[in-house]
Amino acid sequence: MKDPLSPGERSKRMSLVRSKDTKPEMRVRRLVHAMGYRYHLHPKNLLGRPDIVFPRRRKIVFVHGCFWHQHTCVMGARMPKSRIEFWQHKLYGNKKRDAKIRRRLCAAGWSVLVVWECQTTSRLDRLGKRLRSFLGAERQRTRAPLLKGTRNRRRRLRAASPQLEGHRTP
Ligand SMILES: [Zn+2]
Repeated sequence: MKDPLSPGERSKRMSLVRSKDTKPEMRVRRLVHAMGYRYHLHPKNLLGRPDIVFPRRRKIVFVHGCFWHQHTCVMGARMPKSRIEFWQHKLYGNKKRDAKIRRRLCAAGWSVLVVWECQTTSRLDRLGKRLRSFLGAERQRTRAPLLKGTRNRRRRLRAASPQLEGHRTP
């Protein structure tokens, strides 16, 4: 099928499709980070270069644009006014590729969660709950919580023994 866009337009368009650090993705990243999770981004060694990867948990989160990845929502149902056949073919290809990538990752032992763009614009509390139940409990902090007065005791201790600076006692 002939591409209706010039190569320049196409590459510009494709850069949008494949773009990293999109707004919905940034929202999800900020959210999981604030929840205490740490992750890798777009690792080259993983099929499909998934958006957000939690290697120790063996979990992957994809943040998909509703139009480009054909979500079953209003945004996903939108279709450009011209070259409809081309776009149907193109978008169907995206969807098929996504499914193949998910299958292969799952076969390799990864759990995959897809977060849709439209799920990142409101009700972030709901998204947060979904992410937590998918990812499991956040990492336990290794440092014990400060007890009342501990901070001041530490400060006094450091003031009294400057050589202890940098060697915080738990
Ligand atoms: Zn959607």
